[in-house]
Amino acid sequence: MARIVMKFGGTSVANLERIRHVASLVEEEAKGGNEVAVVVSAMSGETNRLVALVDELDADAGPDGKKWGDAIEDEYDSIVASGEQVTSGLLAIALRRRGLRARSWLGWQIPLRTDMAHSMARIAEIESSAIGPSLADGNIAVVAGFQGVNEQRRISTLGRGGSDTSAVALAVALKADRCDIYTDVDGIYTTDPRIAKDARRLNNIAFEEMLELASLGAKVLQTRSVELAMNYNLPIRVLTSMARAGEENPGTLVCHEDETMEERVVSGVAYSRDEAQITLLRLKDQPGMVAKVCKAMAEANVIVDMIVQGISKSDSAANLTYTVGKRDLEKALAALEKSKDSIGFEGVKSDSDVTKVSVVGIGMRSHTGVAQTMFEALAKRNINVKVIATSEIKISVLIDAEYTELAVRALHSAFELDQAAKLKVSAP
Ligand code: ASP
Ligand code: MG
Repeated sequence: MARIVMKFGGTSVANLERIRHVASLVEEEAKGGNEVAVVVSAMSGETNRLVALVDELDADAGPDGKKWGDAIEDEYDSIVASGEQVTSGLLAIALRRRGLRARSWLGWQIPLRTDMAHSMARIAEIESSAIGPSLADGNIAVVAGFQGVNEQRRISTLGRGGSDTSAVALAVALKADRCDIYTDVDGIYTTDPRIAKDARRLNNIAFEEMLELASLGAKVLQTRSVELAMNYNLPIRVLTSMARAGEENPGTLVCHEDETMEERVVSGVAYSRDEAQITLLRLKDQPGMVAKVCKAMAEANVIVDMIVQGISKSDSAANLTYTVGKRDLEKALAALEKSKDSIGFEGVKSDSDVTKVSVVGIGMRSHTGVAQTMFEALAKRNINVKVIATSEIKISVLIDAEYTELAVRALHSAFELDQAAKLKVSAP
């Protein structure tokens, strides 16, 4: 007998038909003699619908005629958390109709305690003293993902895509033997199959690689859930909810690098269209200038990602280019306008028609030539690189958005990701 956490995303519980199907998958695991906790997302589109309601009302003017008065994140949380409440109840009913014992658990009932950061709370603690014995007693726990309760007994949510994190955290708290994340794709791919037809499902991928891929735009898992799984060394399996787990549906195991079986230098190509580029023209070339720019961005709550500086030899001015989230571009430009004189630069250019394309692989730590392969592949297609950023296991480039597909395909084939990887040979 094992203890299993199964998580189903929005498309897997999109309507009653799908919920009935999910109930059949849960039944299989329960009938196999396992203790099962299920974590569910809201029905697909539901969270967006709720967010739109909040946004619309939030845009109303206050009594003084001014917009954007009091913060509303606390109420945002109690509204958007309702989507998961509905699906947890529905799935519990579907399970009972199959003759199984099941009940829904909301965040505050477990309780799953979080910090005070509304709309992007972090999990502080999951109490297992009630849900644990209930499972051991043969009840299936259907947990509303994405939500928790904070110190002030207000409902909190874990950020978009947060049900993944609920599932991983619950698996850790319940000391589960398995954590299966069911979704609308059958695993983690070498790149987006909509762009590269020959993209392949990976049998396994290391935590670090998945962490990079998730934060670089592969939207299958919430970044935080991967962080958590890595910290607790909890392998997670990503698989499709269209079929039951097994030989037909092996999915991708996200696990410690020692457990990965394949020998690859690069494991995946990711892209993100969420970036925008800002260039400051003729910034004084002296110590402390970049710090000033970063300070202005931090004060405006804008996260700076890639940075590159070009200095012209003839005079002592530099052009500084960096990227910010597309959604933050207006905010960033306004902050620069305000601090133009105190920072000291001559002009600003910005461009949101850009894409960040990245290659990721733990093999980069031990293999040379990755950068060369990457830049040659881009050069051969005449794709101009605007900004570069690297870490130990990734190289990212910023390019014109119109070349996104071309670049992704070129890199995917340059690193032979369309071909089966060699298996690791264990040392004698
Ligand atoms: N329903 C939430 C969202 O759409 C959480 C989740 O699905 O993971 O972001
Ligand atoms: Mg998701």
